[in-house]
Amino acid sequence: MVMCFCRKWVIVRTSWTNNNPGRRFWGCPDPFIGWYDEPMCAHSKVIIPGLLRTINKLRIAVDDIKDQASKHEKEVVKIKEQATMLKYYLVYSWIFFVVVLNIVVMQINGNENLVSIDQLWICSVVHT
Ligand SMILES: [Zn+2]
Repeated sequence: MVMCFCRKWVIVRTSWTNNNPGRRFWGCPDPFIGWYDEPMCAHSKVIIPGLLRTINKLRIAVDDIKDQASKHEKEVVKIKEQATMLKYYLVYSWIFFVVVLNIVVMQINGNENLVSIDQLWICSVVHT
């Protein structure tokens, strides 16, 4: 570690200015002491800011996609819950139907002259 003239430890930082994109320099609480890296070539000064802009756009796109995925996951959970409830409703409605049918059949069997169970079954199939 290197100590600054102000008696604090020197830190290596990275410049993100257009003239020195990605070039490291020495700093401490004072913002700039000297360059850590060699000067950048003209081509790097053009290429690196373009790459940084592309990375930033992609990060924003990834964040948007993550937000959408999160919303879709919540919708999927909600739809699964509704499907489970509908399955319960279906099962309970069939149980209710069978119980009511049994009650009707028991009442009819009490009076054999009205309708036989075969006739009741045919009636229920025709009406459904
Ligand atoms: Zn200093």
